[in-house]
Amino acid sequence: MSQTLTTRTTPELLTRPLRLLIGGEWTDGSGETLEILDPSTGERIGSFASASEDDVDRAARAARAALDGPWGRIAPAARAKLLWRLADALEEHLEEFALLETLNTGKPLFLTRQYELPQAVDILRYNAGWATKLNGETRDVSLPGEWHTFTQRRPVGVAGLIVPWNNPIVMAAAKLGPALAAGCTTVLKPAELTPVTAARLGELVGEVGFPDAVVNIVPGLGTVAGEAIAVHPLVDKISFTGSTVVGQHLQRTTAATLKRLSLELGGKSPVLIFGDADLDRAIDSAAISIYNNSGQVCAAGSRLYVEASVADRVIAGIVERASALRVGGGLEEGVTTGPLISARQRDRVLGYIEQGREAGAGVAVGGFAPARPGFFVQPTVLTGTSAEMSVVREEIFGPVLVTQTFDDPDDLDGILGRANASEYGLSSYVWTRDLSRAHRIARRLAAGNVRVNSHTGMDPNMPFGGFKASGYGKENGREGVEAYTELTSVAIRLGD
Ligand code: NAP
Ligand code: MG
Repeated sequence: MSQTLTTRTTPELLTRPLRLLIGGEWTDGSGETLEILDPSTGERIGSFASASEDDVDRAARAARAALDGPWGRIAPAARAKLLWRLADALEEHLEEFALLETLNTGKPLFLTRQYELPQAVDILRYNAGWATKLNGETRDVSLPGEWHTFTQRRPVGVAGLIVPWNNPIVMAAAKLGPALAAGCTTVLKPAELTPVTAARLGELVGEVGFPDAVVNIVPGLGTVAGEAIAVHPLVDKISFTGSTVVGQHLQRTTAATLKRLSLELGGKSPVLIFGDADLDRAIDSAAISIYNNSGQVCAAGSRLYVEASVADRVIAGIVERASALRVGGGLEEGVTTGPLISARQRDRVLGYIEQGREAGAGVAVGGFAPARPGFFVQPTVLTGTSAEMSVVREEIFGPVLVTQTFDDPDDLDGILGRANASEYGLSSYVWTRDLSRAHRIARRLAAGNVRVNSHTGMDPNMPFGGFKASGYGKENGREGVEAYTELTSVAIRLGD
């Protein structure tokens, strides 16, 4: 086993406990001290004193004061420039960020370096453009008399941004970008397991010239810091990405203050492969969709429905690709697939595989944890699964694909009935060369995101969000920025 870089050099940032950014000052959290682990080894790479309720209160007050201060009157073009500068700074430090993200998550370095950091940079730049394009409009009304009527868009206020551990820097950018473009001030809580890149981003925020307290960063426990943000009276909106259970909890905890709430929750996204599809591409894509980031992706294509006439070939193709993946630590040469984020997630995924076995599913490949330190699960395909099994119904959030077949490619009611029979509705994938079938299915899939003949299609200009237990509200696109605004309508009576 090759050595990880942690044992050779420790990045400067991790040589002392990470701190909180509150009101432009770096401070030690007054909560519990938490360790940061490298999931590739299970070894400690750093620590931080987490944010307490009191720390969150100071952050919320600072954010509110900043909004009532000069930031509240800053020109849109000035916000755009700051966001653009932040994107430039992140790009200049891309190698450093990619390394930090890889150390903290175990993701292969090529993934953080070539995909995730560039994606975070693009998201910031995209949103910089929106700062100058958020307008109200004049409206013609039919009231008696003469009127001048128009709408105005205002920042929603202080935005509480609660992010998960599966894509820490991308999620931070996806929430900070639109919030700052819209003119909000922010309190960002990274996941307790992945506070590292957010802390470094906080340094860049200051360096590029954001005024103090526009971005506050409070790493800590969901049950302490997250809870405190959710109930704080000075926080006007919560944008949350994470589990459905915590999303439901947030609906309750934010009710008392009637905060605005955007919820980007889990998924159990179907992949439909028809016999007429470009099968080589479909096989490659299906494998990437479930094994990318070790399946820790909300939009992962995790339920395969394949036409029976090509099922053997497609499943064998995915199994072959799963076997060819190189599972290992993020900094090891040639690794394609990293660990899960924690021992708890690994055990949860293994528990699901066991439940699948007990319910009668076959294990075509994988199904075990490799014998090595770190939180790994071998890429897995379960065959012969059926609708009532927990592995088919529940989000596993790991490298586990469940497969089923359908016989009649023209029975769209039957196929869609199965694809849509999920409490989730985040993403869905269709593979066919039949244009009319593709369109007919796309318009009936019960999911916020439909992809035809591709597993990707994520773009900062494409609204992304779920139906049903996958949450509500959109990220990205105009809708994503508007989610950080309030619309006021103004009617001025000019005369009779
Ligand atoms: P989670 O608890 O929902 O974590 C998401 C974020 O919410 C974290 O920052 C978390 O803090 C915070 N949080 C937790 N409890 C909170 C509360 N009471 N009030 C406010 N914020 C709170 O997710 P998880 O436990 O890490 O992962 C569990 C499952 O969630 C996964 O297996 C997967 O199914 C799903 N998940 C989905 C996504 C997605 O992209 N949709 C991402 C991650 C996980 P802590 O870090 O302290 O928990
Ligand atoms: Mg949690």
